[in-house]
Amino acid sequence: MGLKIYIDGKFYQKEDAKVSVFDHGLLYGDGVFEGIRTYDGLIFKLKEHIDRLYQSAHAIMLDIPISKDEMVGAIKKTLRENDMKDAYIRLLVTRGIGDLGLDPRKCGRPTVVIITDKIKLYPQELYGKGLEIVTISTQRNIHQAVNPQIKSLNYLNNILAKVEAINAGVEEAVMLNSEGYVAECTGDNIFIVKDGSLLTPPIHSGVLRGITRGAVIDIARLKEIPVHEEVLTRYDLFNSDEMFLTGTAAEIIPVVRMDRRKIGDGKPGKMTLKLIGEFNKLTKVDGVRF
Ligand code: PMP
Repeated sequence: MGLKIYIDGKFYQKEDAKVSVFDHGLLYGDGVFEGIRTYDGLIFKLKEHIDRLYQSAHAIMLDIPISKDEMVGAIKKTLRENDMKDAYIRLLVTRGIGDLGLDPRKCGRPTVVIITDKIKLYPQELYGKGLEIVTISTQRNIHQAVNPQIKSLNYLNNILAKVEAINAGVEEAVMLNSEGYVAECTGDNIFIVKDGSLLTPPIHSGVLRGITRGAVIDIARLKEIPVHEEVLTRYDLFNSDEMFLTGTAAEIIPVVRMDRRKIGDGKPGKMTLKLIGEFNKLTKVDGVRF
């Protein structure tokens, strides 16, 4: 049996799971989304993802037509329908079907889609030997325009950065904000380790408030590792002892080279490996059963 996709309360086979070409999610990238993960039958950080989805929607004045509890119920039902224990859940809410103009008032009911599938962001071998990244020239969106905290369906800012990374022959790119400070990568938050402390850019540097980022900060506090949200430059990154990226799909991935500079000793760092170990333990216990 093939994959079943949830659209507005009904399940469709993958081949038949379609939305209208008049949906403003397609016409304008007008909508919001979430990426959530399950580990062995537990949904990791479900409340955090649901809250972020509704906050993104609130920021763009999109009223999600079902309550948070109903959304959680729909996610669980989709997972059970597909009999998946380890899944990547893509949850999206589009503005809905409108006409060819921008006006969101002309769109009827927002469309809710839930896809449960697998995702592989980077080749497995890179988790062992570490990733190489580059700084690219596409700036991260400024908060006065499309705030990076909104997880919107318009990801062109990130895709342009990803294209630059691919053109440079690597998998991932560091994006700077309009002031030239480090923001984040195309689909991940960034951390460095310097003299035993863990550092990551603050939200106002222009980053998504990553849920994996939050989990790593919580783990560090619990383990009494000093952790600070600090404005960072490329210089700070070049001279860090360790570097890693965090994201729901990527989890925690070490970075060993940036802009042709070796990071630390050029191998995944000790603290990074410790945090990966703690994170893996957390995903086994901290979750909502479905
Ligand atoms: N930054 C961006 C731009 C993202 O799209 C994502 C999620 N893919 C992240 C950071 C990581 O966020 P999370 O840990 O909540 O998945």
